[in-house]
Amino acid sequence: MADYKYKRVLLKISGEALMGDQAYGIDTDTVKRIAGEVKDAHSKGLQIALVIGAGNIFRGLSAAAGGIERSTADYMGMLATVMNALAMQSALEQMGVDTRVQSAIPMQTVCEPYIRRKAARHMEKGRVVIFAAGTGNPYFTTDTAAALRAAEMECDALLKGTQVDGVYDSDPNKNPDATRYDTLTYHKVLSDDLRVMDAAAVTLMRENNIPIIVFSLHEKGGFDQVMAGEGTCTIIKT
Ligand code: UDP
Repeated sequence: MADYKYKRVLLKISGEALMGDQAYGIDTDTVKRIAGEVKDAHSKGLQIALVIGAGNIFRGLSAAAGGIERSTADYMGMLATVMNALAMQSALEQMGVDTRVQSAIPMQTVCEPYIRRKAARHMEKGRVVIFAAGTGNPYFTTDTAAALRAAEMECDALLKGTQVDGVYDSDPNKNPDATRYDTLTYHKVLSDDLRVMDAAAVTLMRENNIPIIVFSLHEKGGFDQVMAGEGTCTIIKT
């Protein structure tokens, strides 16, 4: 195994990351590209779990604003994450990576139900586990689901793959002088409302002392480099 600082990690991918240049839905080439990133790190022995959002398909809050009852809208959002999880599973399996999808909302004909000990066993056996349907509860986000599963799986780090290579003091797309933080404390993220992940997710990671690593999913080899301690990222810790 490569000299990774972290041996078992959970990677959170937002639904929007799967859209590519499209305005909606799943861009299969983008899914393949991200799957390739996962495969590279996985082939070196890293144990990887994934949580994928659903912002590319359905967000409970916006649907609730449109008149769908909030909990129902959130369940619809969770169901949409299952579609993204299956798309990622398909891409990974086509590359020869063994995977399992586990859903927090049981749907046995489609995938396994979430069983913590079974998920841990899959990871030990080198399978990439994709956790679908968020936490299974409305009023939560897939960021919180990612933090929850990272804690349950006793991961060494929670990775958040984003559009930029870390957390900046202002929006780097608008301000050319924006500077990236190499490290941040959980406290600063929460007190400055830096919106890296939602507050529930950051709090859960702080309580369990699991670092959050924010990096770009657009850099080729970025995931692997960050894991090897070479890539550009922001590390959030105590
Ligand atoms: N969701 C939920 N409970 C969860 C996770 C997700 O109700 O534990 C719903 C919620 O409606 C959310 C949607 O699923 O808007 C999609 O998840 P999210 O917005 O976190 O996706 P992302 O922004 O990461 O693409």
